[in-house]
Amino acid sequence: MVDSKRPSKHPATQAVTGGRRKIWTKAVVNPPVWRASTHLYNNVADLREGLNSNEDGNFFYGRRGSPTQWSLAEALTEMEPGAAGTMLYPSGVAAIACAMLAVLKPGDEVLLTDSSYDPSRSYADAFLKRMGVTARYYDPLIGADISNQFTDKTKAILLESPGSLTFEVQDVPAICSAAKTAGVTTLLDNTWATSRFFPALHYGVDISIIAATKYIVGHSDVMMGAVTTHKKYWTKIRRTAQQLGQIVSPDDAYLAARGLRTLEVRLKQHEASALQIAHWLKDRPEVGAVLHPALPDCPGHEIWKRDYSGSSGLFSFALKDGDDRSRADFIDALELFGIGYSWGGFESLALPVDPEKHRTAIKWSMDGNLVRLNIGLEHPDDLIADLAKGFEHYNK
Ligand SMILES: *Cc1c(COP(=O)(O)O)cnc(C)c1O
Repeated sequence: MVDSKRPSKHPATQAVTGGRRKIWTKAVVNPPVWRASTHLYNNVADLREGLNSNEDGNFFYGRRGSPTQWSLAEALTEMEPGAAGTMLYPSGVAAIACAMLAVLKPGDEVLLTDSSYDPSRSYADAFLKRMGVTARYYDPLIGADISNQFTDKTKAILLESPGSLTFEVQDVPAICSAAKTAGVTTLLDNTWATSRFFPALHYGVDISIIAATKYIVGHSDVMMGAVTTHKKYWTKIRRTAQQLGQIVSPDDAYLAARGLRTLEVRLKQHEASALQIAHWLKDRPEVGAVLHPALPDCPGHEIWKRDYSGSSGLFSFALKDGDDRSRADFIDALELFGIGYSWGGFESLALPVDPEKHRTAIKWSMDGNLVRLNIGLEHPDDLIADLAKGFEHYNK
């Protein structure tokens, strides 16, 4: 394991204090919204001096941010032990795309987990391909055997643990250790756990990516991505993001920072409610496997127990004996669960998922039709009553 240590303060405290230094906040609690394109200099000498430092905190031009964005980036860096810095992006997909672009060049090959978020796949299969980068997919449960997949062209691996539809928990330390030996860069989509439940760099990941749209923002009203990395990759990640003109608005950064302050209490409640509901579903006669990393049905459950300090509010389960139509009847009958993409907000969501349509490395062969649930902050008893109503319709 790398030599980074957990921060001295508890992550719950870190989420409250992170990025709230006086230089960002002045005399108030929350960093104000600094809306600016132009930053003004005192004189020409100052203007020229401004070119010499490309660091957060150095006023330059709006595209390099202002205290609102710098404060949020600093908070996310402080929450990830071993991190040198964080770049913010206008969506999670932008974060994934820019991070991969920073470490790949024409002629390279990248390995992606077969459980990857679908837009990551289409980015690799279309955009990266056009750039002359070959994408190959691997079994998410491959572990240390990933080294058998390496060729001398393999330059990067994208991990996603757990997968956000099918929830296989990957052996991140084993994959990262094999990659390190072979000189391959590792990138992890850590959106589900966040650094709170899985401090990715500590477990050997080079580049940790989250869709802040989900749990950091937490209120389903802002799109944002974040890439956090250690010293070796920091300059590369930062330069690439700046060259591609990536910037988030100060208003969005403000809302994301506001979300971050309550991350701990929200995650704890998402965790408790999701576990209660997952166990309840497991006992239903209509339900086959419950793909929740904290339950034994979930592939990689043992790895989750070993490496993760908690579970969040997103999981899937299989409806037995039905078909696509009865699954739709089940979902349509729910009142508290909205039907829509994304997750990590305070409101519950349900979605039909069909992983067999996306897989290329290994066939998806689990029985039943999957439903993915985002468990929000409604009372779990009400959510269970709603799901029970869904089963009545399913059984009709
Ligand atoms: C939502 C999501 C993303 C992309 O985030 P956006 O902000 O929606 O672009 C990336 N990875 C995972 C696992 C996601 O669920």
